Amino acid sequence: EKYIVVTGGVLSGIGKGIFSASLARLLKEVGVDINVLKIDPYLNVDAGTMNPNQHGEVFVTDDGYEADLDLGHYERFLGVSMSRRNNITAGQIYSTIIQREREGKYLGSTVQVVPHVTSEIKERITSMPGKVLSIEIGGTVGDIEGEVFLEAVRELAFEKNRNDFLFIHVTYVPYLRVTNEFKTKPTQQSVQLLRKIGIQPDVIVVRSEMPIDSQSLYKIALFSGVPRDMVINLPDVGNVYQIPETLYEAGVHKLVANRLNIQIEEKPLGWS
Ligand code: ADP
Repeated sequence: EKYIVVTGGVLSGIGKGIFSASLARLLKEVGVDINVLKIDPYLNVDAGTMNPNQHGEVFVTDDGYEADLDLGHYERFLGVSMSRRNNITAGQIYSTIIQREREGKYLGSTVQVVPHVTSEIKERITSMPGKVLSIEIGGTVGDIEGEVFLEAVRELAFEKNRNDFLFIHVTYVPYLRVTNEFKTKPTQQSVQLLRKIGIQPDVIVVRSEMPIDSQSLYKIALFSGVPRDMVINLPDVGNVYQIPETLYEAGVHKLVANRLNIQIEEKPLGWS
């Protein structure tokens, strides 16, 4: 199995979910057996108890699970029904572990975040079906809640083959109108945070209000230590359902296929 791990930097709400769903759709379109997993670091067991005015729609899956709105993005973009298996929350992981501890299943050992919580997360990830699994980690790098999930995927990439993992970091580059320049500093800092916990991204997806000049993109590549062609700019679009096609035109499916060493079919554009 191969894994695509999508993390977010700088701030939330920049389109990490839309990007992940678009990439999954693009890969499905070129014949990849893709499955998706959304990880939510909050302690709610599911999104059913969360205020939709704060958090957005509660998406109910066919099997009756009350999920995060991102599962709705995945279902609409992929045209595939989502189920409770496509979402992991910190609440689920911790309640499983605490229940197991009360049942005495840890046989007297001290139950710890590492290795018990990380092992449970790795177990949930590796039990997912599909040849390629796209894992989106909610929140932004640097959040306390997200740390254990990042540690789990870092360990997984170490224990399995690093070449079977593609780490994509989605960031935001603000534009300063008064000085007429794009600012790459927040992106540099979030990549540094990611590296500090032992994850070197393979691809940087740069969201921005407008298309970014190539000099700024080169700067991001240089400071992030990724090849220039692995820095992809995704400016705002009027209709988010265009994004899979935009990624296709940018050849993102080829980058992913080369990096993960997977077979893809070249298909003419004809999205349905
Ligand atoms: P995140 O997962 O980073 O919190 P989402 O993927 O949920 O963010 O996107 C947040 C909002 O931004 C959504 O309303 C989405 O439609 C919009 N959005 C995402 N990507 C783009 C884009 N490239 N152009 C325009 N709007 C976008």
